[in-house]
Amino acid sequence: RVKEEGKNHFQFFTSEMNELVSRKSTIAMSIRKGLKLGEFTVHYQPQIDIETENIIGVEALVRWHHPKLGSISPAEFIPIAEENGMIIHIGEFVLRTACQQNKDWQDSGMAPFRVAVNISAKQFSQGNIATVVTSALEDAGLAPHFLELELTESIIQGATSAISKMQELKTMGIHLSIDDFGTGYSSLSYLKLFPVDTLKIDQHFTRNIHNDPKDAALVATIIQMAHNLELNVIAEGVETLEQLAFLKNKRCNQAQGYYFQKPLLPEKIEELYMNT
Ligand code: C2E
Ligand code: MG
Ligand code: MG
Ligand code: MG
Repeated sequence: RVKEEGKNHFQFFTSEMNELVSRKSTIAMSIRKGLKLGEFTVHYQPQIDIETENIIGVEALVRWHHPKLGSISPAEFIPIAEENGMIIHIGEFVLRTACQQNKDWQDSGMAPFRVAVNISAKQFSQGNIATVVTSALEDAGLAPHFLELELTESIIQGATSAISKMQELKTMGIHLSIDDFGTGYSSLSYLKLFPVDTLKIDQHFTRNIHNDPKDAALVATIIQMAHNLELNVIAEGVETLEQLAFLKNKRCNQAQGYYFQKPLLPEKIEELYMNT
């Protein structure tokens, strides 16, 4: 009996593993087709100036509705797309969509703001990022200073010639930010070397401002450091008024999170604009 149970247990485990493997390979294999069939869309989450409470920008976040698997989180498919190289195509799709959308908003008379696009490691190190960005901006007719690229610490540290690529983008007039700031293991000296405009405090720290005094101290320190380095600082994952009050008190420049808005369809951004 014991033997049999052991055997069943083993089989259960392997079938679960198989399921995971097949979900992963299904995802990997459906990206190209999904892009062609329009299954990918882009949502936009407002970024708010804490002092004025105006929308100063939006972050573009990709969404995928798979015909069989339903909605798949970017947290699941982006790493898979990084592995098989499809991130280059997803990334270009998001970049082009976001630039065009922002230009359309401006043409419709909305007060201009920046759109921030996440750039993954492979996109930054392999593709000729400056060429892709230039082409996306030109095709959309969007001025470069209305585009921001969100890079992570690991990208900046990992890519050879990262500094010259960043310099090239900066020279074009594009804004650069460091996403998930504080979660990497890199040395702070890169802040001196790399031409960035904005630090985005990772949502893990924001979430714990009122649960963990050490996280609160880290948030306050990051804001202070950003100001000392003359960098802009934004907190992501702001969900409560208490978190916002803390950030305001520490003179954090901007905030983004469910307390204000979730990532929204473009039409909802327009509605929001009309009603504020
Ligand atoms: P991220 O760039 O750090 O984006 C922030 C994530 O936090 C988004 O998740 C957003 O929906 C979520 N979020 C925003 N406010 C709140 C809040 O108040 N509370 C909580 N709990 N979450 C909040 P999402 O859209 O699922 O994206 C997850 C990650 O996937 C992103 O993290 C980014 O690393 C990646 N990603 C998303 N879109 C793209 C893309 O177009 N290209 C690339 N390369 N990566 C992307
Ligand atoms: Mg981001
Ligand atoms: Mg982030
Ligand atoms: Mg992230």
